[in-house]
Amino acid sequence: MQNLVQLTTPAAMHAWAREQRDAGKRIGLVPTMGYLHEGHLSLLDEARRRSDVTVASIFVNPTQFGPNEDLQRYPRDLEGDLTKLAARGLNAVFLPSPEQIYPEGFNTYVEPTTMARGLCGASRPGHFRGVCTVVHILFRITAAQVAIFGEKDYQQLQVIRAMARDLWLDVEVVGMPIVRDPDGLAMSSRNAYLSPAERQQALALPRTLNLLREAAAAGERDAQALAQRGRQALREAPGVRLDYLEVVNAATLEPASTVGPQTRVLGAIYVGNTRLIDNLGL
Ligand code: AMP
Repeated sequence: MQNLVQLTTPAAMHAWAREQRDAGKRIGLVPTMGYLHEGHLSLLDEARRRSDVTVASIFVNPTQFGPNEDLQRYPRDLEGDLTKLAARGLNAVFLPSPEQIYPEGFNTYVEPTTMARGLCGASRPGHFRGVCTVVHILFRITAAQVAIFGEKDYQQLQVIRAMARDLWLDVEVVGMPIVRDPDGLAMSSRNAYLSPAERQQALALPRTLNLLREAAAAGERDAQALAQRGRQALREAPGVRLDYLEVVNAATLEPASTVGPQTRVLGAIYVGNTRLIDNLGL
């Protein structure tokens, strides 16, 4: 098994990264909040393909959680995560504490605008500000030249792409497809919250997305009619509370009027206390 370097302070992480860069190495980064599953691991594999040295970060970022969200109970398994990272041939893992990322006197945030307002941004005010801030910090500390994100968090991926472009971050942002369990549910650390009955109920989300894809394939071109249909299906699904379901332009995230190659459906539901998201290209 590959030797996995564990770096617990920003200074140590940055010094290691500088050494790699000085030796001419291309650094790939996969930011995570831990409790790793095959979705995360697919990003690590892509990072390894695209870089000479690969770093994962595990940091449950407090600034992207709202006051009534699951920051305190977010699942953690550091030992299991380290074993998976080493087995996957990672070179280094960055494991900072919240106090190290946001020390006393911390004063500067990165604020995304239009693209961060709708969808998850509407139900989670301040979420993408926290995400952009921490991702920018992680990019700087790890000196990453390429960073891999999952399409599972599709809005996040687009918001980060825009940040990298707007702020000239000189990091290539790469998106990877959603990895699903055999029953169709998108893998997520938060699936650990679901009881067996809730897990069955949660399948309404991927099922509804597929329903819309089939309707689009069968010739439905009215994007907002599809969205209505999807919302209706989720309102009728037992045990499910609809947060949002929108049919949007995949690049701008603005509501789509007609279905085309760039059209994507994004949705979020609650099952019990658990909020789940998913999306699919139409
Ligand atoms: P998280 O630990 O939930 O913050 O996720 C870290 C990264 O893994 C993000 O870029 C996510 O989009 C990505 N990710 C999470 N779940 C999946 C999945 N099922 N398939 C692909 N990527 C995922």
